[in-house]
Amino acid sequence: MTDISTVNLDTDILIIGGGAAGCMAAIEAKKTDPNIRCIIMEKAHIERSGCLAMGLNAINAYLNNGQTPEKFTKYISDEFCGVIREDLVYSIAEGLNESVKQVEDLGLPIEKDQNGDYVTRGRRSIRIFGERLKPILAAAVYRAKVGVLNRVAATNFIFDGERVKGAYGFSNRDGKLYVVHARAVIVTTGGASGIYKPIKKGDARNTTWYCPWNVGTGYAMGIRIGAEMTSFENRFVPLRVKGVNAPTGTIAQGSDIMHRNALGEEYLEDRYKHLGGEKCLSIYRLLGTLQEEKAGKGPCYLDTGGLSVEAEEKLKMSYLNMNPAIVLLWANDGYGPSKRPVEISGMEPVVIGGHCQAGYWIDIERRTTIDGLYAAGDVAGGAPKKYVSGAWVEAKIAVKTAIEEITNVELLHINEDAVNNEKGRILCCLNGSKELSHEELEISFHEIMDEYAGGVTAHYELTETKLIIARDKLKGLEDKLRNLRAEDNHGVVSCMELIDKFDVAKVLIEHLIYRQETRWPIFQTRLDYPERDDINWLGFVNSVFDPVNDKVKIIKRALNETLCNI
Ligand SMILES: Cc1cc2nc3c(=O)[nH]c(=O)nc-3n(C[C@H](O)[C@H](O)[C@H](O)COP(=O)(O)OP(=O)(O)OC[C@H]3O[C@@H](n4cnc5c(N)ncnc54)[C@H](O)[C@@H]3O)c2cc1C
Repeated sequence: MTDISTVNLDTDILIIGGGAAGCMAAIEAKKTDPNIRCIIMEKAHIERSGCLAMGLNAINAYLNNGQTPEKFTKYISDEFCGVIREDLVYSIAEGLNESVKQVEDLGLPIEKDQNGDYVTRGRRSIRIFGERLKPILAAAVYRAKVGVLNRVAATNFIFDGERVKGAYGFSNRDGKLYVVHARAVIVTTGGASGIYKPIKKGDARNTTWYCPWNVGTGYAMGIRIGAEMTSFENRFVPLRVKGVNAPTGTIAQGSDIMHRNALGEEYLEDRYKHLGGEKCLSIYRLLGTLQEEKAGKGPCYLDTGGLSVEAEEKLKMSYLNMNPAIVLLWANDGYGPSKRPVEISGMEPVVIGGHCQAGYWIDIERRTTIDGLYAAGDVAGGAPKKYVSGAWVEAKIAVKTAIEEITNVELLHINEDAVNNEKGRILCCLNGSKELSHEELEISFHEIMDEYAGGVTAHYELTETKLIIARDKLKGLEDKLRNLRAEDNHGVVSCMELIDKFDVAKVLIEHLIYRQETRWPIFQTRLDYPERDDINWLGFVNSVFDPVNDKVKIIKRALNETLCNI
């Protein structure tokens, strides 16, 4: 094949990724200015895409009675061992309840008690009936007359060396390159799964906890144009129900259910009595569980044995709103959680800015370090535990800033050479030699990340020696990326995804090497620097990629260095 056809589009605001943050950004843009032109470029279909595709059963960031933005920020700081962007977290906390009300007004059913108050799940969470959350958001996007490009996967930003002017996207349906010029671009493509070898094997490898189609393309596109990234080393390791990857909070949060090891011991009470035992911070629940397993006392369980029939039914209903697989598993096995405890285990690490804080280094108005580019949701760094409601708040802030700042921005088209370059990258996948499929190369990539960069089989543990091996081995594989061959349009997207995963992994490894302490156990355990070191490391590890020299430059930023120096 020698060419692919092009579709050219112009808009004021381009939103890349139509998930929680992307849909909210689009709705907000049209609310702020009904005449503004706004396009969402979405890899899947906005009705069922991203983390919300199966639904949700709780809003995990919400200020219940007695909670304040100050308390919320302190809680997040404690959970993340003192290193968070307090300015970002505080600004999220201020907008949480209003954004939830906005989505309730769009049609999201929220569980209420007899007084009409939201049913709480702990101090900072409320219960929702969220199975249709994504279709509700999508309907609001369509009502607002936002242009939606479904099944178009963004591949790169349109960038002239100074300003982002839009993005390229490849359609897995018509095989065309979409060249969308915009006066401002908001990236909301979520975090990155698939960087580490998945726990599940073979055809089931994509049945992972985090959305398998969020592969870090938003990060990779930013990395390639030199955007500053933060905290990639603060990986997230989900503690989930074994086999079905269902979040454990649905069972444990706000209940009296205990964690037990295979000997029946209440290990959180034993290990962390001084930190609240069963009520300890979630990082200790993960650490405790994995240490029990390593000590030969696993598997570990949530002891659901005492659940009443009514409580079990309620639990099933709740999971049907978010992870139906667990309910099907119980139905298939012929027993429910009240009959047998629920086994839990850690999953492969994920790079993500919504549970942890890996992502774009942004300022409080959600500008990235590149002109014309704004970030929100899981792709944005510095503000962990923002979850879905935090993603909405960030999207609203980003769109407000973008709209304010485009007043004097003219829509300018990039030259043909740049467009041809991007076509060339895609054609390369269609014309590559058949030497290697993306599946085969991905297996080698995953082996490296798993064994040398702290994956599941390495107990998530890291050493400089192994990380340097990972760096070298990845470098050795990089050339093969140019020889991948796609059989069809879906194959093209898979090849581009693998290239993006390599770019994310390259940055991740440098971050992991650089932080010479153990700040977030399991997420970032350095066997060669096992202690937390506040004197040297109470701050951020940031990076900027230099494509000319193929080098990731690390920038150490102090805790109070909250502005991007833009
Ligand atoms: C299984 C699971 C359960 C969760 N449960 C809860 C919960 O109960 N409560 C809670 O508050 N939070 C929960 N969360 C967190 C919450 O869902 C996320 O924080 C939130 O959805 C993040 O929003 P986002 O817009 O950044 O990402 P997403 O909602 O994932 O949206 C990203 C979008 O970008 C698109 N995209 C990706 N790559 C490209 C590309 N190259 N081009 C174009 N589009 C692209 C994706 O298809 C997707 O639509 C859960 C997350 C997961 C994974």
